[in-house]
Amino acid sequence: MKPVIIVHGGAGTIAQEYAEQYRSGVKRAALKGYDILKQGGDAVTAVEEAVVVLEDNPLYNAGHGSVLNEEGDVEMDAIIMNGKDLSAGAVSAVRCIANPIKLARLVMEKTDHVHLTCKGASLFAKSQGIPEIPVEELITERSRERWKKNLKLASKPKGTGTVGAVAVDSQGNVACATSTGGISNKMVGRVGDTPCIGSGGYADNNVGAVSTTGNGERIMKVTLAKLILHYMEQGMSVEEASDAGLNYMKTRVDGTAGVIVVNGAGEWTAKFSTNQMSWAAVKDDNLACGIYLGENEIVPVSETLQINAM
Ligand code: ASP
Repeated sequence: MKPVIIVHGGAGTIAQEYAEQYRSGVKRAALKGYDILKQGGDAVTAVEEAVVVLEDNPLYNAGHGSVLNEEGDVEMDAIIMNGKDLSAGAVSAVRCIANPIKLARLVMEKTDHVHLTCKGASLFAKSQGIPEIPVEELITERSRERWKKNLKLASKPKGTGTVGAVAVDSQGNVACATSTGGISNKMVGRVGDTPCIGSGGYADNNVGAVSTTGNGERIMKVTLAKLILHYMEQGMSVEEASDAGLNYMKTRVDGTAGVIVVNGAGEWTAKFSTNQMSWAAVKDDNLACGIYLGENEIVPVSETLQINAM
């Protein structure tokens, strides 16, 4: 089986001044995951490491760079799922750690549970030796400015910059990972779709893997990731199933989102009903990337040394 990885850096509206940075960030993450897969690494490790690259990048709304809640604090959500045995790990409303996706993986592999939240998640992080960091380390100038501006707005703005990855490894196993700071100026304790199994992501070797981004409250209402896999089980292609899922979400709950999807055969797609979504994918040693509708820039991986060095 030829390995494949697809990553996203969030659906929404991406200001043109940031477009190039969003592109190079997702490319770097996809290349990192692909490198792991090419060396025989498993899909779970590839999606985790790709997401870590994006959590560490202050541009995206996950880990470092997360948006702030109404109190100006950071509360992050993440999920990871292994399509081989349907094992999954999620954390929600976690604070003061650099990489929520790593904690989600530990929940999956070291506990009998699927989802830990808030204080319990932080106690577990401590027990696993994950260092607590000052919240200031996660907050960027941009997220604080956005928070301040939003305080004056009557309606709650949406978040952009959630990150995610899906992959198939050389053994044919699929996995997904999604991580977010949620939506800007959210209520304290608000948990979105991202850590909810079937909403923020789902992976099943029998069908494929999905990671979602967009309006969390509405994604949850239609369990978007599982809905798309359901359409695929009924015989739709990855594109058809993604379009059908996004259409259902639009018509049923008037919501917009973005998705990355791969099936067990390595067929993949990146689709969105928002204005934009940054995404990148690597298959057959070719790196594809886009932000705008119809954009699909493809370069051989051998010509990407420059991206890796950035
Ligand atoms: N789905 C995320 C949330 O609602 C936000 C996003 O993807 O932009 O928490």
